[in-house]
Amino acid sequence: NAKSRGRGSITWFHAEMVEDLVARFDVETALEKALQNGGLRLFLQPKIIEGAPGRHFEALLRLDHPERGIIGPGSFIHVAEATGLIVPIGAWVLEEACRMLARNPDLHLAVNVSVRQFLREKFVDDLALLLDQYQFEPERLTLEMTESLMIANFDLALSQLRKIRALNIRLSIDDFGTGYSALVYLKQFPLNELKIDKTFIAGVPHDSSDTSLVELIITMAHHLGISIIAEGVETREQEAWLRNQGCEGLQGFLFSPPQPASYYLNP
Ligand code: C2E
Ligand code: MG
Ligand code: MG
Ligand code: MG
Repeated sequence: NAKSRGRGSITWFHAEMVEDLVARFDVETALEKALQNGGLRLFLQPKIIEGAPGRHFEALLRLDHPERGIIGPGSFIHVAEATGLIVPIGAWVLEEACRMLARNPDLHLAVNVSVRQFLREKFVDDLALLLDQYQFEPERLTLEMTESLMIANFDLALSQLRKIRALNIRLSIDDFGTGYSALVYLKQFPLNELKIDKTFIAGVPHDSSDTSLVELIITMAHHLGISIIAEGVETREQEAWLRNQGCEGLQGFLFSPPQPASYYLNP
């Protein structure tokens, strides 16, 4: 009857919420354990960059779970951000990247940095310490950040970015076009690179609004002296079109998926 159905659906909602809490708790515990026991990994995906010497990769974080195996950031980054674990995890990622750069002189690495991590006052001091400790050319390290929170914290973001550029570390905006994309920051932020989000690249060369937007982003970036990387390149057709537009860098499954670092680097 209606009454028992009603109770049943309340129980069902409740059970789902509990399950959600349990799942979140699991991820948090798994992240804490991974941090303590060496369960974090950096996978590398090649960036194909026209005319640039050396080998270029983006470092992508993975969780090596004792039971579930390798897990991608889609299932844990939001928990890391929400719990603040992104701060020690981000510190691990940066140190691991610096270690790789110090041991592989032809290597260039792009590392993803959470804006929450980047806006901390201490972030720049920590970076300077890593450069001191690991002794590699700082221009071989690129930091990728998304637009979100940059505009909301404009003055702090600008001052952090200037300090990082003063260290000669390169700066890139990730997933460009999916955030606020306020043109004013392109003029003021000291950026080296924009990565056009893969949702726009997916429509190239057949969707006319995607191709127009990508053409516009490339033209605008080039006028500002900023280079362009296309992410999510999956077909030869996309590659040919993007090269023809003067896009400097390409990245995607067409060239390689992310691989364990040991696939490319000396230990
Ligand atoms: P992202 O930085 O935009 O990285 C690109 C994502 O697209 C990666 O997913 C990559 O595996 C995937 N990808 C590469 N080529 C292709 C392609 O041709 N087609 C498609 N459909 N996808 C492709 P992944 O590794 O799952 O990382 C997801 C996101 O997690 C990253 O997006 C980045 O925002 C975040 N992330 C990864 N590592 C870190 C990290 O160390 N720290 C922080 N804060 N965030 C990270
Ligand atoms: Mg990235
Ligand atoms: Mg991206
Ligand atoms: Mg992305």
